[in-house]
Amino acid sequence: MLRSLLVAPPGAGKGTQGERIAAVYGVPHIATGDLLREKAAQPSPSAGELAAAMARGELVPDEVVMALVVERIAALVPPVGFVLDGFPRTLAQAEQAYAWGTAADLTFHAVVSLDVPEAVLVERVLRRAETSGRQDDTAETVRRRIRVYAESSGPLLDFYRRRGILVEADGTGTVDEVTARIRARLDVLDLS
Ligand code: AMP
Repeated sequence: MLRSLLVAPPGAGKGTQGERIAAVYGVPHIATGDLLREKAAQPSPSAGELAAAMARGELVPDEVVMALVVERIAALVPPVGFVLDGFPRTLAQAEQAYAWGTAADLTFHAVVSLDVPEAVLVERVLRRAETSGRQDDTAETVRRRIRVYAESSGPLLDFYRRRGILVEADGTGTVDEVTARIRARLDVLDLS
């Protein structure tokens, strides 16, 4: 069962590709943005703070995301596979996830990074804003989210490169072309 992670800046097609890759390999697609939006929408002491951080395009605290992901994965029926989308997003989260994954024998087979030039990203997110209803899909916020990504993704990708599981894919072109590129790289892996 595939255990993978998609890493990409906002607008790179992480959600779309994550869902497709999860369907191809028959595993759940677990998107931390979705889990956090759900959590922020339910009344709780931290809901207001979470919603505000997300609306500003800032990251929410590591322990909040980690707890949500662990809870979601722990509820899966073995054999456990997944495509994570949006977590780990920082080196600190990757180190925590690796410690947890090693103990649970659930480390990643592959970490897929999608490369898309910034101009294409802003254009795609603003187009998505017309229908997504997401408060963080504005020009100002998307630039901040791209900046946050640029700052946190370098050390994150280096961590996975050093572990030898980083798969770098070109995220431009049609949705089908990108899916095919990712599949070509994942299909050759030993997923035991
Ligand atoms: P996304 O849908 O992946 O673009 O995530 C939307 C927002 O959720 C981000 O801008 C962050 O505010 C928050 N978020 C999602 N995943 C994480 C994470 N792993 N760590 C911290 N914040 C996150």
